[in-house]
Amino acid sequence: MDIIHLLPDSVANQIAAGEVIQRPASCLKELVENSLDAQATRVQVIVRDAGRTLLQVIDDGIGMSEMDARLAFERHATSKIREAQDLFSLRTMGFRGEALASICAVAQVEMTTRRAGDETGTLIEIHGSDVVRQEVCSCPVGTNIKVSNLFFNVPVRRKFLKTDQTELRNLLTEFYHIVLVYPKVSFTFVHNDEILLELPAGTEKQRIEAVFGNPKRNVYTSAFVDIHTDTDLVSIRGFVVKPEAATRKAEQYFFVNGRYMRHPYFLKAVQTAYSGMLTNDYQPSFFIYFDIAPEAIDVNIHPTKTEIKFADEQTIFQILMASVREALGKFTLAPQIDFDTSGNIDIPLPQNTTASRPQVTHDPTYNPFHTRNTVYPDKAQPVTGWESLYEDRPRLTEDRPAASDRVQTGMTLLSTDAESAPLWQYSGKYIILPTEEGLLLINQHRAHIAVLHAQFIEQLEADQGAMQQLLFPEVLQLPQDEMVLVQTLLPDLRAIGFDLEQLSPDSYSIQGIPAQLANRSAAPVLQEIVLQVRERGADTRDEWREQIARSLAESAAIPYGKTLSEAEMRDLVTRLMQLPHYRRLPDGKTVVSLLSEDEINKRF
Ligand code: ADP
Ligand code: MG
Repeated sequence: MDIIHLLPDSVANQIAAGEVIQRPASCLKELVENSLDAQATRVQVIVRDAGRTLLQVIDDGIGMSEMDARLAFERHATSKIREAQDLFSLRTMGFRGEALASICAVAQVEMTTRRAGDETGTLIEIHGSDVVRQEVCSCPVGTNIKVSNLFFNVPVRRKFLKTDQTELRNLLTEFYHIVLVYPKVSFTFVHNDEILLELPAGTEKQRIEAVFGNPKRNVYTSAFVDIHTDTDLVSIRGFVVKPEAATRKAEQYFFVNGRYMRHPYFLKAVQTAYSGMLTNDYQPSFFIYFDIAPEAIDVNIHPTKTEIKFADEQTIFQILMASVREALGKFTLAPQIDFDTSGNIDIPLPQNTTASRPQVTHDPTYNPFHTRNTVYPDKAQPVTGWESLYEDRPRLTEDRPAASDRVQTGMTLLSTDAESAPLWQYSGKYIILPTEEGLLLINQHRAHIAVLHAQFIEQLEADQGAMQQLLFPEVLQLPQDEMVLVQTLLPDLRAIGFDLEQLSPDSYSIQGIPAQLANRSAAPVLQEIVLQVRERGADTRDEWREQIARSLAESAAIPYGKTLSEAEMRDLVTRLMQLPHYRRLPDGKTVVSLLSEDEINKRF
């Protein structure tokens, strides 16, 4: 008996759907791309519950005939290519004819569509690949597709969806990728009845400004430099920012033939063009559009992949780098920026020594963060930014046990007299401390990060952040995807001492800031948190808290180059040694390194 049989279309489509439609964002991408392929000039996106319950795309494109409306939902049904040869002259976004078939396999779809020449339109309704309704209807020219209850028949997929905030962020990211290449098309994006984006038709620059513009993301189109290079192989145009407009939070976009792409290798080319012009972790924002013969790139790209292969990547790398460099050259007549070479110098742990960790015994009742240290004698010159960190803490010096009670063996300094052993600051960066085993080198900035990090985590968990009221409330304006993020973080931001009230769909007013950051401008601190969470990714509450604590600690920590008084150094070292893991930061960076006596002896 034969045992092989063909799968019914509905099953085959559901399997294929898993590849094409992984989340609401991929569904949105396919629908909007179809509208653009249909020459729409206006596209409206309406979303409910981050796409879980509704994803609707309305366009004023060419529409479909009655027959095409039905065919569009068949697998491998496409109007965009006829033969394999066509793949090489592809200029549309879609071509596989898979998207609608995939979407209708895993959702309830209702579509109305009408062509300009037709008097009536077509309404078609499909639930999980089954056509449940098809009739003549009256509707505007164009296509209106409503996708409801995505994955209603694939519970596993539904379970894999992240929180609404995360999915909404994915939707917006996907949306940005598209709207940045179609500035002449107007777009709106509505989520749960709220207009999140309204993008009128305009120039590329105006579109960038509308999506990312000042003051939302610090992408100043006024700081843009045009790049433009035409070669036989490729044409490259777009905008890069002047070096002085680089930020920690850069927007970096490559597009090829009207499609967003990620390209780490070309990113290197841009970064190389800027080399020597940027401070440490600053990055240039750029929007670079490649135009290249379709046969020179791999068209057989998977619909969900954003990395694209080029036939001649090395040559394009050179052209791109030269193009950016030339554009920047026109603006580097200005004096060079002062490079910040400090930071990130890891002192390697000396090899073949067993740098033993000092033994610290804990008094469980002792909390270093709730006590004011006695070692703070020289009040003569106020030290701003550093001292303020401790100002709000109670002065309970009595309950602090003597250093010798807490610390045993291992380090002379700590086991004898923590308050009088010598210690020095070196090069504005390190604290040097002699111990029995050698010289302890402590990175001052990282040591302070470690101390503050522990403190913030503790306060977050106890919901006991100390707040400092701002004299002048600040306004935090953010792009939509980041507003969504702030909403997620809100309970924890409040717990740690931010006083935030939403002002409008894209802004908050900040009335208070964690006390450790007093006298700082609050908005940049919050933007930094958002940046960290966005870049490092955080999907659980513990991860958010970790990122908040880390980011705040980094913002508040004493910088490199700051001269510390002896008392300050001693205070910092004492606090550091109280931590269970003080030798490294959570991200692995070295805080403390021992230059052993053996190592020193060997040199003589
Ligand atoms: P592809 O875009 O790869 O061709 P799809 O499954 O996305 O495959 O769409 C199938 C076909 O349905 C398209 O080729 C196009 O002819 C038609 N179609 C889809 N969406 C629209 C739309 N918004 N307006 C007009 N025609 C559309
Ligand atoms: Mg398509």
